[in-house]
Amino acid sequence: MTELDRRQASAPAPSGWTYAPAPESREVVSIEERYGLYVGGEWLEPRSQEWYETISPASEEPLAQIAQAGAEDVALAVDAARGAYENAWSGMPSARRAKYLFRIARILQERSREFAVLESLNGGKPIRESRDIDLPLAAAHFFYYAGWADKLEYAFPNRRPGPIGVAGQIIPWNFPLLMLAWKVAPALAAGNTVVLKPAETTPLTALLFCDVLRQAGLPPGVVNIVTGDGRTGAELVKHPGVDKIAFTGSTEVGKAIQREIAGTGKRLTLELGGKAANVVFDDAALDGAIEGIINAIYFNQGHVCCAGSRLLVQESIVEPLVSKLKRRLATLRVGDPLDKNTDVGAINSRGQLDQITELVESGVAEGAELYQPPCRLPERGYWFAPTVFTNVAQSSRIATEEIFGPVLSVLTFRTPEEAVEKANNTAYGLSAGVWTEKGSRILWMAQRLRAGVVWANTFNRFDPASPFGGYKESGFGREGGLHGLEPYLEFE
Ligand code: NAP
Ligand code: MG
Repeated sequence: MTELDRRQASAPAPSGWTYAPAPESREVVSIEERYGLYVGGEWLEPRSQEWYETISPASEEPLAQIAQAGAEDVALAVDAARGAYENAWSGMPSARRAKYLFRIARILQERSREFAVLESLNGGKPIRESRDIDLPLAAAHFFYYAGWADKLEYAFPNRRPGPIGVAGQIIPWNFPLLMLAWKVAPALAAGNTVVLKPAETTPLTALLFCDVLRQAGLPPGVVNIVTGDGRTGAELVKHPGVDKIAFTGSTEVGKAIQREIAGTGKRLTLELGGKAANVVFDDAALDGAIEGIINAIYFNQGHVCCAGSRLLVQESIVEPLVSKLKRRLATLRVGDPLDKNTDVGAINSRGQLDQITELVESGVAEGAELYQPPCRLPERGYWFAPTVFTNVAQSSRIATEEIFGPVLSVLTFRTPEEAVEKANNTAYGLSAGVWTEKGSRILWMAQRLRAGVVWANTFNRFDPASPFGGYKESGFGREGGLHGLEPYLEFE
């Protein structure tokens, strides 16, 4: 530790910085009072005649009434998807299918500001993230798969790929539009049609996406959106007219879906939870690593399945690293998701806030040391201060269970072998991070970490060309890249 490091580490957290508010305008979105279901290219009143309210988690302000689709509604959507599959989409020349996907991608780019504002409003994530990450990536996924749509035979040489049929897709609330793009783009590129259920708390960007589909002139029924809670998802899973289920969400629901469709012949991909290790060696560039650690766990309030929620630090650098981390934490700005200066937005729902709170309390009860920087949280809405736990026992709940919130658990190791053992000591296996200046060590670690994605000297980087998915209880199947097309194809 140099003298400078020592001085920096003991300096008080920067204070006195003030930023003028820089609010993004809400005026760029118009929200309907009430939304129906998007089925066969039309807006339908739900047969269920049930509705619920969607809110802004940052203020608890009601935003719109959302249809709670029942069994009959789901059946109508599946029929519409089947009709479109047989009469319009699967037989269409693939270059024409590509054209629609390119159009959707371009319209998303053109309307990205509107989508970003709506995403932050309904989900609570900072506008900086929805604007710079969710929206560009969602468009990029459509561009990427548009490019494959007419090249499938070259993508899978000697295998004669063809579509499967109707895909039922169920997505979570942490990246509402991006998860839609991850699912819809490869399904359509492969010639399938879709019934998609957004998460209960974040339906608005999926509903706005229906407008994009109309603008793109997509044939009716190729994409159908049914809103509702878990019951709607369960109806979709059960429906005999669905050929493939693609699910992203909790391990618990993933397991239930797997049981439900066992023996039906339906295809399944599951993208579930994670408890990723982010491993920092003593030779890592410390300031860069600090930024990576912050990004790994506080990005999107930690509502990220691949979040680096377990920080494994080589013992010799624990002290300087933790003190730098705490100082950096104090500079994070928590608050209004629509303010362009905000780093950490609102927790997505009351339920998620309760879950985070309960797990953090268990961490304190189990003897870990809690640190939260001083920060004033808004009175209304759902908020949780960025949190770091040190002195964390490997067996404790905060080191083993997915918290899905802005909470980091710091553990230590001495040797690379111990780092691997601790990193892999989890029921999950979605992602991992390695921080070291040694290239050979990166490769050595990457070969041994049981994780679908291993980032080196970076974290939470996504690209549509790169496959993403898990091992063990993090699920199976890949999204992104060529691998992401395979689950939507049948081979002769
Ligand atoms: P979840 O319940 O698994 O939700 C995922 C999606 O599945 C949502 O659209 C959900 O609808 C739907 N669903 C719920 N029950 C269903 C059922 N029986 N059959 C079919 N679909 C069903 O996850 P959550 O409640 O939003 O979050 C709980 C935990 O899951 C989080 O704390 C986190 O640990 C994990 N999670 C992981 C990811 C990920 O990206 N891997 C994403 C989100 C959450 P509702 O919206 O109505 O619940
Ligand atoms: Mg749920």
